[in-house]
Formats: sequence, C-alpha cells, structure tokens
Amino acid sequence: IPQFPENSEPEATVTDKAADWSKFLKKHYKAELGEIAREFPYNRSLVIDYQKLEKWGKRGLLLADELLKNPGKVLSDVKDAIKQNNLIFTKDEEEKADDVNVRFIRLPKKIDVRDIRAHHINTFLSVEGIIRKTTEVRPRLTYAIFRCLNCGTLTPPYSQGFGKFQEPYRNCAQCERQTKMELVPQLSKFVDVQKLRIQESPEGLRGGEQPETLDVDLQDDLVATASPGDRVVINGILRSIQRVSQGSKSSLFDIYLEANSLEVGEKEFEEVAISDEDEQSIVELSRDPELYRKFSHSIAPSIYGNDEVKEAISLILFGGIVKSLPDGSHLRGDIHMLLVGDPGIAKSQMLRYVIKLSPRGIYTSGKSSTSAGLTATAVKDEFGDGRWTLEAGALVLADMGIAAVDEMDKMTRDDRSSLHEAMEQQTISIAKAGITATLRSRCALLGAANPKMGRFDEYAPIAEQINMPPSLLSRFDLIFVMRDKPNSVLDRAIGEHILKAHEVGEIIEHNKKNPMEEVDDDFIQEKLAPVLPEIDPLLFRKYIAYSKRNCFPLLRKEAKEKLIAYYLSLRDMASDNSKPVPVTARQLEALVRLAEASARIRLSDEIDESDAERVIRIVDRCLRDVAYD
Ligand code: ADP
Ligand code: MG
Repeated sequence: IPQFPENSEPEATVTDKAADWSKFLKKHYKAELGEIAREFPYNRSLVIDYQKLEKWGKRGLLLADELLKNPGKVLSDVKDAIKQNNLIFTKDEEEKADDVNVRFIRLPKKIDVRDIRAHHINTFLSVEGIIRKTTEVRPRLTYAIFRCLNCGTLTPPYSQGFGKFQEPYRNCAQCERQTKMELVPQLSKFVDVQKLRIQESPEGLRGGEQPETLDVDLQDDLVATASPGDRVVINGILRSIQRVSQGSKSSLFDIYLEANSLEVGEKEFEEVAISDEDEQSIVELSRDPELYRKFSHSIAPSIYGNDEVKEAISLILFGGIVKSLPDGSHLRGDIHMLLVGDPGIAKSQMLRYVIKLSPRGIYTSGKSSTSAGLTATAVKDEFGDGRWTLEAGALVLADMGIAAVDEMDKMTRDDRSSLHEAMEQQTISIAKAGITATLRSRCALLGAANPKMGRFDEYAPIAEQINMPPSLLSRFDLIFVMRDKPNSVLDRAIGEHILKAHEVGEIIEHNKKNPMEEVDDDFIQEKLAPVLPEIDPLLFRKYIAYSKRNCFPLLRKEAKEKLIAYYLSLRDMASDNSKPVPVTARQLEALVRLAEASARIRLSDEIDESDAERVIRIVDRCLRDVAYD
C-alpha cells in the first residue's frame, strides 16, 4: 500500500522520537506510570498535559507540534517508548502496554465545528461544544479469532476495522481445506464504544445562526463519561469515511472525530470575556439613575411599548440565586416567565431578541423543534446504528442559560409531562429501554403561547383560556396576559414606530446599494434613535455575565417584611381555590428570586425596599389577570 507522508518534516527517526518521549515521561509522568502499573487494567490511560509537553524545552515543542500534524504516528511513538523502555510493565509483561491508552488534554487552541475543512483530516483537533446525543455503550470487536469447523484449529487474530466484519480469506492453515470458520468470542478481543454528536455552544453563535454538529467516536474508558447537555472539549483525530449511496461508493466523504480525550468543562468553559475597560463601563453604568429604564428599553427596541413585559424580561436575564439546602435539595434561582397573548403582538419577536442578550440562550418552538422536543428523548435511530440514542432537547441544551420556547401551547403531551420536573427540579429523568439517565436543565424558561381559541374571548375569564394545566402554570414565576384591544392612541404610536423601523431599514439598504453617495450621519442617527437600544447589546451581555459572577445580594429586613406582607395579602385574596393559578408558597419564592434579580441589575449586595416594591408591582400586574380580578 502506498504510504502518503502525513508529515513533511524528515529530520528525526522513529527511534529518536521514542527516546525523547521516554525522557519526557520519565521526567514528568513517573507517578502516573507507576499508578497504571499498580492499578492495571482498572487504570489504563496515561493522560498527558499538552501544555506541559510544550514547555519541555525545544524538544517538547517539536513533539507537541508533531502531535497536531501527525497524531497517529505520535501515539504509536509514545507506546513504543513505554514498551521499549519498560516504563510501566516489566519485560515479560510488555505486551500489556498495547492496552494502555495515551491521551492528550489541554490543547491551547480550539477549532469551531463550522471551521473544520478537508485539510484537517488526520490531524489532531480540539473541539468545544455541547453534547446533543449519545448512543448506548456497546462492545465492538477489535481482534477476531476463528476456529476451523473441520479440524478445530484456531486462526491468528484478525484485526477488525470500523464497519464491516472481516472474515478469514484463506483456507485453514492446518487442514488446508476450504471449510467454514466460526468466530470464537471468548478468545476474541472487544472494546467498549459509544457515539456522540456535539454541537457548537450557543454563546459562540451570532444571533439566529443554526449550530453545526460533529459526530464523535469514543472508545474504551472514555465511554459513558459525559451525558447530553454537558459542555465538553473533545480532543482527537479527525477521520474521514467514504459515503455509500445505493450500494456504490461515492467520492464524497463524511467526517468524524476519533476521540483521544474528553474534558467535561463547566467551570473552565470560557464565558463572556470581560476586560478591565469593560468592567469600568459596567460599574459606571450601574450608577446611572435611569438604569432600570435603560435596560428595559434596550430589549427589543424595535417593539413599541410593552414596558412591563420588557422590565420583567430584564429581571429574568439577571436571574435570582440558586440555593443549596442542608438536606441536599436545591432552590432554583432561574426565573420562569410565560407570555400568553393574542397573535401578532410581538411575542415571538421579543423571545428572539432575548436570545441575543442571554450569554447562553436557545430559541425553539413547542410545535416543531427537534425530535428531542423540549426535554429529552430516547430513540432507536440511524445515528446509533440500531443502538438506542439519548438526545437532549432545548431545555437541556440551554443549561445555565435561557430557553425561549415559542408556541408552548402546541407542545407534545410528552413534553408537557416532563416539563414539570424540568422546571422545578431542573433535571430531566429518562428511563427507557437500556437508557436511564438524569440530565440537567438549569435554565430559565421564557415561554410564549396563544390563548386556547387562538384569540382571547373578551367575555370569558382569562384564566380559563390558557391552554395549560394549573400544575404547569404554577411553576411560572410570572405570567403575562397580552391582549390586542384596538386603541387608537396606542395603535398610532405602534404604527409610527413600525414605520420608523422600516424607514431606517430603507436607508441602510439604500446606502448598501450606493456606497459612493455621501452619508449624513446625523440624519441617520436621528432617525435610528427610537429603534436603537440605549445599552449596546454587547455591553448588556457583559453586564449580565459580570453581575451573575460577582453579585449575590441578601434580603434586608425592610424588603423581607414588604414581601411577606404582600404574600399574605395574596393568600387572603385568592383563598377560594377555584382559580387555575393558585397562590401558593411558590409565589413567595418567586418574589424572592425576582427581588434578587432586581438588586443584581444595579450590582447591589443588598435587596432593599425599592427592589421589593418593583417586583410586587410586576407580580401584581401578572396576578391581576390570572389569579384574581
Ligand atoms: P406573535 O408572536 O405575538 O404572534 P410576532 O412577534 O410574530 O407576533 O409579531 C408580529 C409582527 O408585528 C412583527 O413583525 C412585529 O414586529 C410587529 N409588531 C407587533 N406589535 C408590535 C409593537 N408593539 N411594536 C412594533 N412592532 C410590533
Ligand atoms: Mg408568534
């Protein structure tokens, strides 16, 4: 077979490299090698820190660089080094080293899934993303031994590649007859395998872009180390596999990543980066007396009015504080909010805008969405080659962010029932066929729904027109009823606002087509002003991230008393339990979460009376429509 040189650097020979590796391992990985020797086969993976290798002088740099370009060779060099120098096993047990995995972690440079190209094939890559699907773990045959059905002689091991089963192509070596051979599973060798699909993480996407995906093969002790929804860095070799369409081979190839190592990264995961300058602008903005109004007005500025809804949205963007209790349970900090309203009043528009502002946001529709729906599903599909596949839905993928779910009234019954757990416990449990898993859904849910009959009926009680069971409704901290009643003053204002947005769009299009024409910046600024956010979306995102990271406000006595007094008055008013949204202790928890978010907006460590008043006003606006009249 002709060998294409994977590496164009001729210099050192294989043995030189193995000697270098041996020196490096002896210097930096003595303890780990010893552990493997003691704990083998339970412990059989040597995990090498790429950054440590890079820092090992000039030779380290060369080895590190070679790994990226020519990983197959490097991995076998390291194994040679281990074998030849008996770094783990003694001379007589040397072949055990074949079962040791050499893994590299902490590569400094990551590549986005969407930037992977043909020239990356057979190189070592580090890819970041969220796990969307995982298959069951199943054994794959790696070396097969056969027995001759005529004389019983065993064959040497036949190496098995991916895909097709390789059977002996020669006659039996002993009796030389062309007889049937049978596989002897007890003597053959298997390895555990699992397939994953990762997708780009939402924070890397510019608003509205669809995430791209990459399939990953895991082997041996890498299997079952991560679940759908986990944020991971996967390092491995990009492989290509030929497509076959209708039985004939195509010149098109598919790619997948042959995983070498997997890092589950929650804390290290790169969040929104905030520079010193950013911090300065953030702190400055936090002192602005118009702060709350500015934040609300920077949410979907092309949508006129809806000030209360926008104010509430700014609260859910900041969120409350999650609390762990001594009994091991936890109280969620995420705020769930529902918009129920007549069609055409910009519910969808607002949901889409929120995704732009949330550092980790996902927009989906209850109606269409993916096969995984809102929570998670287990299916037997083509992806798993007949294995069961567990796929994360929107709420799992939005873990630690906001899930904007449009058309919630149209979601499936399965979603509806699993949503209860997902919203309150923020976990999703799946038990189906061979798959049992608990996935995390620590996100805020911003839902939108139309009324039962498509439009609100003016004469029926509003609460009866929301197409969701009370148990689900009670899990929302805020429910806004948005009605489209003709009102000539408001309609004119909305109309003018919409036309302004169109006009601005026209100017922008005109300038694009006539780049040579002089542009009057002042004129454009003046036109743009009403439909531009007062706080730039980039700064908004950074502000949210900064506040969530640094700000954990506590309830002051005055605020506490205000909230309790309001809660008691609610219980009083809604004492007949006929209303579909009962007033329960959940409302008090909601008030606390909202008040925490309110204090976070001004980066305060204390929840004061003004926060209590603000959230009571908002909650009252919501409850007036649905819980009492
Ligand atoms: P919904 O999801 O509530 O049915 P959409 O979000 O699809 O409605 O909005 C319908 C259209 O009407 C959008 O183009 C939106 O921009 C416009 N619209 C509705 N209300 C307003 C408003 N208050 N200000 C500006 N545009 C609006
Ligand atoms: Mg809509």
